[in-house]
Amino acid sequence: MAKSITIIGAGLVGSFLSLQLQKLGHQVRLIEKRPDMRKTIIDGGRSINLIVTSRGLNAARHIGIEKELLEITVPVTGRMIHDLEGNTKFQPYGRDESECNYSISRGEMNQLLLNLAENSGVEIEFDCEITDVDIPNAGVTVNGEKITCDHLFGADGGGSAVRKSLSQYFTEQGIKHENRSEMLGADYKELLMPLKKDGTPPLETHALHIWPRGSFMLMALPNLDSSFTMTLYLPQQGELSFDSLDNNEKVTKLFHSQFLSAVKHMPHYLEEWNQNPVGTLGTVRCNLWNHQDKVTLIGDAAHAIVPFFGQGMNCGLEDCFYLGKYLQESSGNFAQAIENYAKMQIPNAYAIADMAIENYDEMKSKVGDDRFLLRKSVEHKLENLFPEQYRSRYGLVTYTLTPYAQVQEIGKANQFILDELTKNITTVAELDIDKAKKLLTSVR
Ligand SMILES: Cc1cc2nc3c(=O)[nH]c(=O)nc-3n(C[C@H](O)[C@H](O)[C@H](O)COP(=O)(O)OP(=O)(O)OC[C@H]3O[C@@H](n4cnc5c(N)ncnc54)[C@H](O)[C@@H]3O)c2cc1C
Repeated sequence: MAKSITIIGAGLVGSFLSLQLQKLGHQVRLIEKRPDMRKTIIDGGRSINLIVTSRGLNAARHIGIEKELLEITVPVTGRMIHDLEGNTKFQPYGRDESECNYSISRGEMNQLLLNLAENSGVEIEFDCEITDVDIPNAGVTVNGEKITCDHLFGADGGGSAVRKSLSQYFTEQGIKHENRSEMLGADYKELLMPLKKDGTPPLETHALHIWPRGSFMLMALPNLDSSFTMTLYLPQQGELSFDSLDNNEKVTKLFHSQFLSAVKHMPHYLEEWNQNPVGTLGTVRCNLWNHQDKVTLIGDAAHAIVPFFGQGMNCGLEDCFYLGKYLQESSGNFAQAIENYAKMQIPNAYAIADMAIENYDEMKSKVGDDRFLLRKSVEHKLENLFPEQYRSRYGLVTYTLTPYAQVQEIGKANQFILDELTKNITTVAELDIDKAKKLLTSVR
């Protein structure tokens, strides 16, 4: 039976969910506080490029939009590490070239999803900020008017008003729960690396580029036209931080001393530095996502994470996938489906939140380190020699649908295997294959 559904937030997850539920035959209303991004330029300096991986693609496949999505992506097959001297090293992501990530502009993807949702019959209301949520009755106050529905979804991002109301309601009811936001202590700024004057790409286009520098790093992801969106991650405070870089001279010094091979292709970085906002990064840990089948959290509203595994949106789309799967399995029983969805995804969200923070350390300080590179080479070799028995944590997160909580456990066993296999060697050629075989049999 068709249900009336209201979704708060028309970001990537809200617009995806609206399309999915409308396709299942429900009446969906999507409410967004910002203006329509297809008509007004918003988010200046937050052009954010994302990577879409197995989980996002799987969700898209299930609602029949994978092809449209892939059409606006650029395949990325590995990381290119840039050292201080301008040397580069390429680390492939997958077992082979068929395993790759897809770079996509967040704005373009959001516009595609809004168009598809609108064309399928979703009613979208922009410039509507919800201010009050009536949890027991699945009601919200929008621009002073109260509306109710059968099922309300909060897809309103990391600072979710729906999550705040839900948490307040649980507290009033004496229901124990966790609802915690932790800041990373590092922020980010977006800059652009345009095409070269002759129209050619400034960097190798099928790679994610990283300039790792210990406590900070610069990253580049390709755009469709082969220009690059650059993201600088830097501590909020301290000797070298967004706080301390308070004039053009200091910014110029940073770029010319640390990122010379990048800055030579960034003619407008200083203007952009001064124009573009600083974005904050944090983790939301929340362990109760719904009140019955009335109000449910999804996407960043339930589990914002730091971006260093490239999984925030992928995890949000996986939420939609599981919700859809459980709705189908229960013949449209929302109460049952939402219960199963929360049971499945809450532990997974906690696991990917932890793994994303761990990856931050890896990307900013370890990727250029010789011991780290040796472990990666050994790991790559194990994946190719023993494909049934060894899969890297990165591969499992990015190229499979193995639940994140399970991946986290496998990752711990992998660490042990790599510690044992690399402790007495300095090159991958010295890898003891017999020892590897024995270890894989005993640990798995
Ligand atoms: C620098 C950076 C890089 C990233 N890279 C990746 C990546 O490579 N891969 C990946 O998978 N993820 C990545 N992410 C994470 C990804 O961007 C988010 O997980 C994803 O955008 C979350 O989508 P969402 O729809 O849940 O929330 P949001 O995108 O935050 O959307 C929430 C929407 O709700 C609206 N809203 C908020 N409050 C209200 C209200 N009161 N009333 C009405 N509307 C409201 C907002 O205006 C917004 O449109 C990255 C994030 C950052 C910051």
